[in-house]
Amino acid sequence: MMLVYEMKLEGEDAQYEKLDEAIRTGRFVRNSIVRAWMDGEVKSRNDAYKYCKILADNPEFPWAKKLNSMARQAHAERAWAAMERFYKNCQAKIPGKKGYPKFKKYQVRASVEYKTSGWKLSEDRHYLTLTDGFNVGTFKLWGSRDLHYYQIKQIKRVRIIRRHDGYYAQFVIDHTREEKKELTGKQIGLDVGLNHFYTDSEGNKVDNPRFFRKNERQIKKLQKCLSRTKKGSKNRIKARNRLGKAHLKVSRRRNDWACKEAQHVIQSNDLVAIENLKVRNMVKNHHLAKSINDVAWYKFREWLEYFGRIYGVRVIAVEPKNTSQNCSNCGQKVIKTLSSRTHKCPHCGYEADRDENAAINILQSALKQLPTTLGRREDNVSGETGLCLNGETQTSKPTRRKRNSK
Ligand SMILES: [Zn+2]
Repeated sequence: MMLVYEMKLEGEDAQYEKLDEAIRTGRFVRNSIVRAWMDGEVKSRNDAYKYCKILADNPEFPWAKKLNSMARQAHAERAWAAMERFYKNCQAKIPGKKGYPKFKKYQVRASVEYKTSGWKLSEDRHYLTLTDGFNVGTFKLWGSRDLHYYQIKQIKRVRIIRRHDGYYAQFVIDHTREEKKELTGKQIGLDVGLNHFYTDSEGNKVDNPRFFRKNERQIKKLQKCLSRTKKGSKNRIKARNRLGKAHLKVSRRRNDWACKEAQHVIQSNDLVAIENLKVRNMVKNHHLAKSINDVAWYKFREWLEYFGRIYGVRVIAVEPKNTSQNCSNCGQKVIKTLSSRTHKCPHCGYEADRDENAAINILQSALKQLPTTLGRREDNVSGETGLCLNGETQTSKPTRRKRNSK
C-alpha cells in the first residue's frame, strides 16, 4: 500500500524559479510524448521510455537533459497513462467523449515527479535537496513529523507540487500497514444524503459539519468578487488566487474530517456497506452545497476503503438501485417522493425513517453480494490511494514568499 505525506518547501525565490523550470520540463516531456504518440512514433509504454532519451539527447532541448532521467520516465508514464485511459474508454465503448489525450497547458497547480533518484533527504528529515541538472538546491521542510518512521528506501516517489500558496513536496511511501482490531460483531449500512452526511442502518445520523456551510458562503463570496473584476487586471489575478487558496483550505479541512469519520466507522464495525455512487457525475455538479457534500462523501469513501484494508474490515459498495424505495422489511417497492421523510409500507406495515430504511437496504444488498465477493479482496485496490495525510499541518505555517502567479 502506498501512503502519501506532504510537506511545505521553504527556500529562496531563485530556487522557486528553478523549480518552475523543472515543473515546466516535466510538462514538456509529457507533452512531447503525447505529440510523438499522435505522430505514430510512440506506440507502447516502452516506446515512451525510449523517447525520453531521444528528447534528452536533442541539443535543441537543453532543459530536457537537466531533468533527472528517472523523473523523465515518470513523466513518460504520465503521458502513457493518458493514452491508456483513452484506449480503455474506446474498448469499453463508453458513450460520449473518450478522453483523447491532450496537451497540458500552464497551470498554477502543477508538479514534477521524481522516483528514487534526483533528490536527497537529510539525515534528520528536515531538508530536501534536489540533485539534478536544475541546481535547485536545498529546501527546509515544514509539516509532517511522521516521515521519521520510514526508511529512505521506502520512499518510492517524490513529487514537487506548485500550488496557489506555495510549493510542496509529497513523499510516496511504500508501506504495508496492518492494525489489529477486535471483532465487534457489528455490520453496518450507510446512506448518504444532503440533509445528513450519512444515516446508518441502526438509525444513527451524522450531520454535515457546520464548516461546510461556512465554507460554502466564503467561496460564493469570493466567486462574486472574482466575477466583478476586469479580465486581465491585477485585481482579477488577486481574486483568483484568493479563491484558489480558499478552495485549498476547504478541501484540506474536508479531507481531514472525512478521514476521522471513516476511521471511526471502520473501528466500530466488522463490515461496512455503502452505495456505489458515480464520481464522474458528482464532481461536475454545479450546485455548490451539493458539490461540497459530494466531494466530502467521495473522500469519505476513499478513507473507508483505506482504513478497511488496514483494519481488515470489509467495505462493500452496492449499486444504488431502489435503495430508498424498497421496503427493507418485506422487499416490496414503496414509491415515495423526495420530500417524504418516512417510509411507511402498506404491504407489511413497517415504518422507519426514510434514510434508515435505505441504509438497511444497502446493508442487506451488500450481505447478499458477500458470497461472491469473498476471495476477491484486491478488487478496489488501485495501488496508490491518492489520499494525503497531514495536509492540514502546514496550512497555518507562515510562507515567506508571496507568489505572483500568472
Ligand atoms: Zn414492507
